[in-house]
Amino acid sequence: MNHSDTDPAYLFFNGNKENLRIPGPTPLPGPVLEAIGQQMINHRGEEFCQLFRRLTANFQTCFQTKGDVLILTGSGTGGLEATIANLVSPGDPVLSVVIGYFGDRWADIAEAFGARVTKLKFPQGRPADVEAVEEALRGKTGYKLVLVTHNETSTGVTNDVAAIAQAVHSLGRERPVLAVDAVSSMGAMNLPVDDLGLDVVVTASQKAWMSPPGVAIVSVSPYAWAAVEKARSPRFYWDFQSAKRYAEKGQTPATPALSVLYGLDRALELILSEGLPNVFARHERLTRYVRRELRSLGLSLLAPDECASHTLTSVEVPEGVEAKGLISDLYARHKIVVAGGQGSLAGKIIRIAHMGYVTQRQLDKLLAALGELLPCRSQP
Ligand SMILES: *Cc1c(COP(=O)(O)O)cnc(C)c1O
Repeated sequence: MNHSDTDPAYLFFNGNKENLRIPGPTPLPGPVLEAIGQQMINHRGEEFCQLFRRLTANFQTCFQTKGDVLILTGSGTGGLEATIANLVSPGDPVLSVVIGYFGDRWADIAEAFGARVTKLKFPQGRPADVEAVEEALRGKTGYKLVLVTHNETSTGVTNDVAAIAQAVHSLGRERPVLAVDAVSSMGAMNLPVDDLGLDVVVTASQKAWMSPPGVAIVSVSPYAWAAVEKARSPRFYWDFQSAKRYAEKGQTPATPALSVLYGLDRALELILSEGLPNVFARHERLTRYVRRELRSLGLSLLAPDECASHTLTSVEVPEGVEAKGLISDLYARHKIVVAGGQGSLAGKIIRIAHMGYVTQRQLDKLLAALGELLPCRSQP
């Protein structure tokens, strides 16, 4: 028995040629594959309106927010850029908390829009030090926006967003807007948007949502809306206000990625019928399992347990092993696809995604393959 009683049947659909263990796109379960094959409909018609309203309501449930959730056509980076375009005026001071590659990317987008970005960087493989964030927030008044990555996919580290949110809120009435990149965590890890007071939270369809790439989902709090009204960056395709106006009619400003929305509709149904607490617990359980088993192969993990991501695990490549060769052997011999390191971690780690549609059995196959390919390192 390698699954718990709460694991739903759809997880055991087995139509995959490969064991795709990269952090997006992730594999699609059977019901979602079926859903994306449906015929096109009029995106200005009644049927679409119902689909869009259902999606919006179900995303609100998953984000645990009563605020607005916008469904935008684009990848996660589009959602990150939309956030900047709607919240930043040229010259605005922005604090960017960076613990890896995706934190850097968001800061770079803000810079491209003319923000004066202060990057608060922490070593890769570690979370942000909350006291240092507090100090940075108090040291300079007038930050308009704080950017934080919830789950840094380049390292497999989760930031303590609750504590950072508290630090931001403690600044009072003139506090900055808090924007969170939860692209690779929302839907798999508990991030209650309203309880934590997160103003903007971004995710994307191809990560924990068991859907194809092409849609970004962004929550916007009332506090963020007030800032959107004042921000003066140019925007058209990514205009939050336009997305909201159309959403009120059950539509999108431009043609939506219909097939992706069909997939998300079905995936959200699966997630919500499994129950969010069960989905979160399943991801946590698989994380503990894969970390324990990797360690028993004698491997070292980049992230310490207390800040380990529940959707992705980074494994240090042992001395004498070439990361590129290991990754290509995993594919050639076992049809298992893992990701390498990004930026300065290239060649140093491999990254194993376990978000969305994944079972312990698939992780067992990966573990067995690693055991076979790596020089004998098993601990007694
Ligand atoms: C995947 C990812 C992104 C980028 O998303 P795209 O869909 O590739 O544009 C941004 N941030 C994080 C944390 C991610 O995991």
